[in-house]
Amino acid sequence: MNSKNICKFCRQQKKLIRAHIIPRHFYLDYKDEQYVSVNSLSGKFKIQQSGAYDKNVLCLDCDSKILGQFDKEGYRVLFDEIKKHKLNKIGNDIIYYLTSKDCNFEYLRNFFISILWRASISFLPDFKDINLGEYQQKALEILQGKKSYDNLFKIFIFKYPEGKDFNKLIFLSKAKFYNRKAYVINMAGYFITIILNGKNLIFNNKLHYISEMIINDKGFYIIESNRLYLQHYHFANKKMQEMWMKGYKPPFAPKIKN
Ligand SMILES: [Zn+2]
Repeated sequence: MNSKNICKFCRQQKKLIRAHIIPRHFYLDYKDEQYVSVNSLSGKFKIQQSGAYDKNVLCLDCDSKILGQFDKEGYRVLFDEIKKHKLNKIGNDIIYYLTSKDCNFEYLRNFFISILWRASISFLPDFKDINLGEYQQKALEILQGKKSYDNLFKIFIFKYPEGKDFNKLIFLSKAKFYNRKAYVINMAGYFITIILNGKNLIFNNKLHYISEMIINDKGFYIIESNRLYLQHYHFANKKMQEMWMKGYKPPFAPKIKN
């Protein structure tokens, strides 16, 4: 049996489809579907023009019916629901608060986990940096609804202001948070941090607010931060400029300072 025809989710031999690692809706620039892979160690950016999908990982049922429902909830919450829950403004930050009445927390968490899991099982060179290791199987069990592993995959979300260039930039990369292994997903105007193992993790005073941003079924904050946007934008812009100089076409034209 050719292992290439085994769906990594249901483990059955099926016809496999072109599965997007990051769902298509989250590419704000549909036509180009550019994905940027970031090597977290060297900080190097690489553009993939065709969008990141893998033909060797998922069958149609698992992709569209099971993972698809998580994708839908992610899309619904991040593109629509959140706007109804603007709480207040603190300085330049806009604070949103969502509870279990506003979103299916389990689906939303699964949505982010599924992106990581898809990237982890994928053999695409773009995702060679993403390897969940011992957590890959646990992620699958969560997605299959067998276990919840509440201490694992602690997730918090920052939002960028709307209509900005950098919001089109999609990447997934390794990170560290409080010395814990983490991943960040930058997509569709959101910056999402996923801490793999959040057991006994205590946030210090300065970052105490993060503990209230961890998505959970009681309620959690999402912060829209222009400052964070500018920070990330400046960093990305520098990288884009390097690419531009080397003759690559970056996802958006860098502002070259003369
Ligand atoms: Zn399947």
